[in-house]
Amino acid sequence: METCRTCKEHKTHDDFQKSQNKITKICKSCLNEYSRQYYQKNREKKLQYWHEFDQIKRLCELCNKSIHRSYIKKHQLKHLTSSNHAGV
Ligand SMILES: [Zn+2]
Ligand SMILES: [Zn+2]
Repeated sequence: METCRTCKEHKTHDDFQKSQNKITKICKSCLNEYSRQYYQKNREKKLQYWHEFDQIKRLCELCNKSIHRSYIKKHQLKHLTSSNHAGV
């Protein structure tokens, strides 16, 4: 019998994951819970990231593309220089 470090429950060796012949002191169900939480946290972070990214995008009125705020000047300069070349 082993005691899980996280839930303090006594479980058989089968309930623990073996890593390099050693048994982890966290049972499988706790590990599952842990990875689930980790995944969810990561997912929220990613969503938050994309949400923020969306807010710092600007629409280029010349081509209707959404461009990152810090690139829009560079991007529009390209339009201006290329249209000058074309003579439009
Ligand atoms: Zn546990
Ligand atoms: Zn553009």
